[in-house]
Amino acid sequence: MLSAKGIQTAEDLLYHLPFRYEDRQNPRSLDELKPGETASVIAEVRGAALLRTRKMPLFEMTVGQGRLALKCIWFNATYLQGKFHAGQTVALFGKVEPSRSSSNLKMIQPQFELLPDSSDDAETRLLEVGRITPVYESLGGSRLASRWQRKVIFNLLESMRGTVPECLPQAMLARLDLPGREAALREVHYPPEGTSLTQLQASATPAHRRLIFEELFFLELGLELKRRRMRQRTGIGFATTDKVREAIREVLPFHPTAAQKRALGEIVADMRGPSPMRRLLQGDVGSGKTIVALQAMLVAMENGYQAALMAPTEILATQHFLAARKLLERSSRRYRIVLLTGSLDEDRKRSTRGLINRGEAQLVIGTHALIEEKVEFDRLGLVVVDEQHRFGVLQRFKLMKKPHQAEPDVLVMTATPIPRTLALSLYGDLDVSVLDQLPPGRTPIVTRRVPGERAGEVWDFVRKEVARKHQAYIVYPVIEGTKDDEPELDFSHDPADAPAEAPPRKAARKGKAPELFPAAVQEANPAAKSGLKSAVEMYEKLRTGPLAGLRVGLLHGRLDPDEKEVIMHRFQRGEIDVLVATTVIEVGVDVPNATVMVVEHAERFGLAQLHQLRGRVGRGAAKSYCILITGPRVSPPGEERLNAMVRTQDGFELAELDLSLRGPGEFFGTRQAGLPDFRVANLLRDRQLLELAKQEAAHFANNPAPEGTEAERARVWARLKMAWQRRYGLLEAG
Ligand code: ADP
Ligand code: MG
Repeated sequence: MLSAKGIQTAEDLLYHLPFRYEDRQNPRSLDELKPGETASVIAEVRGAALLRTRKMPLFEMTVGQGRLALKCIWFNATYLQGKFHAGQTVALFGKVEPSRSSSNLKMIQPQFELLPDSSDDAETRLLEVGRITPVYESLGGSRLASRWQRKVIFNLLESMRGTVPECLPQAMLARLDLPGREAALREVHYPPEGTSLTQLQASATPAHRRLIFEELFFLELGLELKRRRMRQRTGIGFATTDKVREAIREVLPFHPTAAQKRALGEIVADMRGPSPMRRLLQGDVGSGKTIVALQAMLVAMENGYQAALMAPTEILATQHFLAARKLLERSSRRYRIVLLTGSLDEDRKRSTRGLINRGEAQLVIGTHALIEEKVEFDRLGLVVVDEQHRFGVLQRFKLMKKPHQAEPDVLVMTATPIPRTLALSLYGDLDVSVLDQLPPGRTPIVTRRVPGERAGEVWDFVRKEVARKHQAYIVYPVIEGTKDDEPELDFSHDPADAPAEAPPRKAARKGKAPELFPAAVQEANPAAKSGLKSAVEMYEKLRTGPLAGLRVGLLHGRLDPDEKEVIMHRFQRGEIDVLVATTVIEVGVDVPNATVMVVEHAERFGLAQLHQLRGRVGRGAAKSYCILITGPRVSPPGEERLNAMVRTQDGFELAELDLSLRGPGEFFGTRQAGLPDFRVANLLRDRQLLELAKQEAAHFANNPAPEGTEAERARVWARLKMAWQRRYGLLEAG
């Protein structure tokens, strides 16, 4: 059970920090509580019962101190039945609310803990009352709950007193004013009297900072070493002669932006260098990454090497293939360019593999099939991959080259606007180029909010645009609005959006790969769910009602891949006027003739997702529109997201805002981004410490006279090895 939670050693347990603290030094007495405040109360259970209301089961408990009473309510909490008995002492922590029925106050869904009674041992009582008490996330089952952890960790720390090995040099700690490891561990679990509760809750005590720094330092040190190792490997030194430059000039259909020039300059400098390139090209939707990549691929091809471009879907691969072929037709040279995807028939795959293997194909565009189909390149010089592939590919692209040949350069592309500071630290093993400028001549997309009652006007507008020979997308948050439907989005709960008094409900979705940016909101009240319009239902309504006579298509994640391809191709060819869809259309499709993006229930989508959706229009010369239709209730964070969408089109600005609006940990769903799981650090909260750790790691690795004694340095390296093997195995990249 413990190992499922990543707890395998005593050390893991020590690094499983409390997720909050309760001030039981001075619990509040009931007569001083005021509505609206969040308080900690210790009181006696008077009575408790499970009530079955029409909507949902309700658990009610009354606690008291003398004459005074406090009512506590939990929704859907059948699991609490039988848990409390009159006379028990319980610690409660939550927001105090006025109660309608009586003069008493109440707490809705407070955190609670039954306190030990005289039958419990003295140690337990000592650990839980009269001090700042740590509260742990349960490691599973009641036996592994907070109380158990408090005791075990306390005993562990006692038994290790004075022997917890330090893993950072003393000199560094002194310079950064951070406490030692053992002291830090002790203080996060057993905060000494007088520790600021605010700092504790924010993980900002010196003890917390020390442990967070430690974790980030070893991440950054590992990344730093990988980079240095990469610099020592032999790659291909491409030449950029006049002939190469001329080849590029021939195909370029427009003047590159300053940002594109800068990025290409950085990429080409790497390619000329003797070690293999590992570079990330980051740029908002529509910033023109493709042409930059194509120029880099031309450099490789003109040097007599092959280049490969790997796209995340067949639609995108095909789109890239067609676009590249069109561009390369402008060249006086004859390049052979092939497409390899999983859906080709076997004969075709075989002959394509042959062309690649014999070096007759110079430019190869494909999907993951490039790896899966055991393609062996004759002389592979450059691989361009989409970020979604990164972690799967970096280890495996070696399979694509012949064994005795030099290591190809790799360019990773991402449209995820990751704030620059974060990107630089996170992709510590990649160099980063940023396209922070859109090509000229784009008319800004007109973005409008429209309340649901006025949807009729939106449909009229869609009809008008279609009459002008344009196309439109209409996006819904779910596939089908019926009972057992699962949301198409990987909603994560945003408590601020929950209707008052409704219990949070987690929508864990199985089967489908999680998205990098989950939408921020899950509707919390199951009753509200029927009010949610769905793609399937609205497809029927629209094509028989307001959009009758138009060619309306339906696209969602539950169609099989072939059906999806067909629909998408028909939309691309203009055979469908209006595509009713879910967020499956979010990534990368380029239909320049589409000028309208309508999003219904827009308040339920995450900011990054809205931005990606909007990026589907405004790709052609015609003026484009993004219409955000909202439901009746929009939460304050929802308001902020919608206002931001109307205010700006700058993906980086929106990403920054997204970061600040989201709760920690939600900006990056760590797993899917291929990021390591952190034990104590949190990338959003700890950005400054991340920067510091990065500097310190570079300093430690590069300093000709490194800090610390020889023994200390040896411990740093030993610790690094362990940390990387155990925790960051994921990042092991070619
Ligand atoms: P991204 O992949 O970064 O989302 P694309 O590479 O698809 O963006 O480029 C978006 C559109 O902008 C494409 O139609 C492309 O041809 C065009 N484009 C790219 N660079 C320029 C430029 N410098 N000037 C004019 N148009 C450009
Ligand atoms: Mg090179």
